[in-house]
Amino acid sequence: MNTSPEQKIVIGKEEWCTLPELGLPAVKARADSGAKTSALHAFNIRPFEENGQYYVHFDIHPVQDNRKIIQTCRGRVVDRRDIKSSSGEKERRFVIQTPLTLGDETWDIEVTLTNRDSMGYRMLIGREAMKDRVLIDPDASFCLGKLPEEEVQKHYQPTSPSKEGLNILVLASNPDLYSNKRIIEAGEERGHRMRFVNISQCYINISASNPEIHYRGGELLEGIDAVIPRIKPVMTFYGCSVLRQFESTGAFCLNDSVSISRSRDKLRSLQMLSGKRIPMPTTGFANSPIDTKELIRMVDGAPLVVKLLEGTQGRGVVLAETNKAAESVINAFKSLNANILVQEFIKEAQGRDIRCFVVDGKVIGSIQRQAAAGEFRANLHLGGTASAVKITAEERKIAINAAKVMGLKVAGVDLIRSKDGPKVLEINSSPGLEGVEDVTGKNIAGMMIECIEKSIRSSKRLK
Ligand code: ADP
Repeated sequence: MNTSPEQKIVIGKEEWCTLPELGLPAVKARADSGAKTSALHAFNIRPFEENGQYYVHFDIHPVQDNRKIIQTCRGRVVDRRDIKSSSGEKERRFVIQTPLTLGDETWDIEVTLTNRDSMGYRMLIGREAMKDRVLIDPDASFCLGKLPEEEVQKHYQPTSPSKEGLNILVLASNPDLYSNKRIIEAGEERGHRMRFVNISQCYINISASNPEIHYRGGELLEGIDAVIPRIKPVMTFYGCSVLRQFESTGAFCLNDSVSISRSRDKLRSLQMLSGKRIPMPTTGFANSPIDTKELIRMVDGAPLVVKLLEGTQGRGVVLAETNKAAESVINAFKSLNANILVQEFIKEAQGRDIRCFVVDGKVIGSIQRQAAAGEFRANLHLGGTASAVKITAEERKIAINAAKVMGLKVAGVDLIRSKDGPKVLEINSSPGLEGVEDVTGKNIAGMMIECIEKSIRSSKRLK
């Protein structure tokens, strides 16, 4: 077909469109002439076969920036394709065929399904879909008509938790943290009743015949199916005590209290890993200042890293460039009665480390962090930057084993690439989601919820 320009629909850079067969009456889409194929933001993509034809069920938040509205759609699969996203990463996506309505016209288009939330717009209309039909006026928006917010809302109902949904608590301190918000959203998306509970406002009755947890002036927290602990380091002791109480009520805890307290002790973690032959930088620990020189020799002298056992997020990690400096730093810490580790400095890593996000015995996402110029610590809040990384089979195995040794279902395992191969730096029991979801485009929070569903299902089967 060769349509003359007069016969084409003129659209702006963004337009309201309808995807009638998917049951989506109003979706704000962006005309993306830079992309060949159109894309729809979807999650929980579940392929299935019916009468020899492939289909997918998927969920979508049809309204931008509103995760409370979820629509489940069904589409006919016509292909699976490797698509390069704007960040240059390849992703294998389902391609479905479905009618698109723009203005008064409707025609069939191919759409890929992606769960990359960074898309912003729920839908991108690519060149193929616009070919012979559309002219874009890049200065204009909504040439085919504006749709006020209230109108859009009318088309959709906010989801309410399903009857089969679980009662899940997020046991943490700050409801506004990205990770906590994402976990709550991800649980609601999957039909669960999610609730944020502040650790410091929980109190427990240990002596009652039934273990009880009370909240804020008397409410009894009961009927809880699962708890997602996100305990900040300063709350480890109290948080783990509350978590232990939940464990004794029979609630499933995504990480248990023993594993969390174990992983919070850097020295103990390293001793446990070493017992299972998991590689780590040579590390020394001593109490008396008489042994300082020997301690330095043990890790092959400066440059070396001194770490406060109680330190987190890179605070309390110091690089000593010379033996003299190392001796002064170690003795200064000791004179303050601080517990420290002395560790060989992995210079060849050049300020990079790798964070592997492990859930239920699988690395579900990994990112590389690069320290800011003049800094050796790659922690993101110290100016480090995150980027995509492909980990080796050996790194994957080490990360999975490290989480397993610690007994953590969810863990952020930090690895460093040394000239002798990958080594474990530390294991985090409440790894942040922001960097890893952004960079990998994966629904990491959703996978944590899935792990809970699976664990509860299998424990019910065992009963
Ligand atoms: P924290 O728990 O406080 O984040 P880490 O042990 O993870 O402490 O260290 C913080 C950062 O410092 C790491 O992410 C890494 O970039 C860097 N680092 C730590 N140990 C070493 C080492 N032995 N050699 C080189 N860099 C290191």
